[in-house]
Amino acid sequence: MFSKDVTIEGEILAKDWKVNMSKDVKLNTLLAQAGVKKDETTGALTTPLHFSTTYQHPEFGQSTGYDYTRTKNPTRVSLEETLAAIESANYALATSSGMSAIVLAFSAFPVGSKVLAVRDLYGGSFRWFAQAEAEGRFAFTYANTEEELLNKLTEDIDIVYIETPTNPLMVEFDIARISQAAHERGAAVIVDNTFYSPIYQRPLEDGADIVLHSATKYLGGHNDVLAGAIMTNDAAIYDKLFYNLNTTGPVLSPFDSYLLLRGLKTLALRMERSTQNAQEVVAFLKQSPAVKEVLYPGKGGMISFKVVDEGKIPHLLNSLKVFTFAESLGGVESLITYPTTQTHADIPVEVRHSYGLTDDLLRLSIGIEDSRDLVDDLRAALENE
Ligand SMILES: *Cc1c(COP(=O)(O)O)cnc(C)c1O
Repeated sequence: MFSKDVTIEGEILAKDWKVNMSKDVKLNTLLAQAGVKKDETTGALTTPLHFSTTYQHPEFGQSTGYDYTRTKNPTRVSLEETLAAIESANYALATSSGMSAIVLAFSAFPVGSKVLAVRDLYGGSFRWFAQAEAEGRFAFTYANTEEELLNKLTEDIDIVYIETPTNPLMVEFDIARISQAAHERGAAVIVDNTFYSPIYQRPLEDGADIVLHSATKYLGGHNDVLAGAIMTNDAAIYDKLFYNLNTTGPVLSPFDSYLLLRGLKTLALRMERSTQNAQEVVAFLKQSPAVKEVLYPGKGGMISFKVVDEGKIPHLLNSLKVFTFAESLGGVESLITYPTTQTHADIPVEVRHSYGLTDDLLRLSIGIEDSRDLVDDLRAALENE
């Protein structure tokens, strides 16, 4: 258990671990066995929940490898090993929220870096980008389409930031193509993989440099843990991320790490069922006279749609009984969100409308219920006045 290259001050350590699950094992197996067989002392099957904030030194000058929980916690390490493995990464860090993972990712780059980002983004990301720009920390350029992004990808760009499929317009961007173009011009690529999860998309395998998640969504899957995750194969990037996370402190708590490990075990099953249900819901929406347009990339549990009569949206939201009107996504229970007043309210209205995020758009996060109940609920609310 003792590791020699650690110091008793408890500052620069914990970066010596490697994924201890074989990368040859398939994703479903990695997920089902998340956190299993980690406790060498007792043989406990599941990862124990270690609340201790501090760890006894066996002797002066020695460490068990754990000194202080902000730096390294056994429950969180078990989670981070799983997070790394499922995104085909050498390194992962678990953070207190998706937003703290995003802010941490940018901390790996110098102040003044130029960022080229997809326009159709999570509203909270846009809000932080606008603030970082106003404070002079980073300069942002936005692109509505993949072609526009590739055209704007000039030599002076340092970071390309993409969410794919985009949120909430559900447009896919080609990570491999963008990563290749970015690397040719010396830019790094960050991908927010919250919507598809590693079940449908593993950005590092496609050449991205950093992948991050709001683990609050699909990775956790039960709407009961706020968490973020960030993965990379680049040791220099990881060193900066680890140093900054340990220095500033937005780590994931032991209890939340435990909940996230538990949620991850069923990620593949949940994703599969959400996709099946979403396809049924899409088939219904496409033939509904109350629906103008359906935005669905063919897989995953996220669907956006535009209604014919925007004035009926309050009635629709109030009449649903199986769907819950709430922000967020990726849980086992189906939610409906109105981006205009919820997730994307912080994007100025003229900016939103300029790229097609109009006030007639609703977003569904499809859970694992019986799809017949979901379709019946939508039909009643959309079509029975
Ligand atoms: C929710 C979300 C975030 C922010 O994550 P939090 O866990 O809420 O901080 C970032 N990106 C996407 C795509 C999200 O849906």
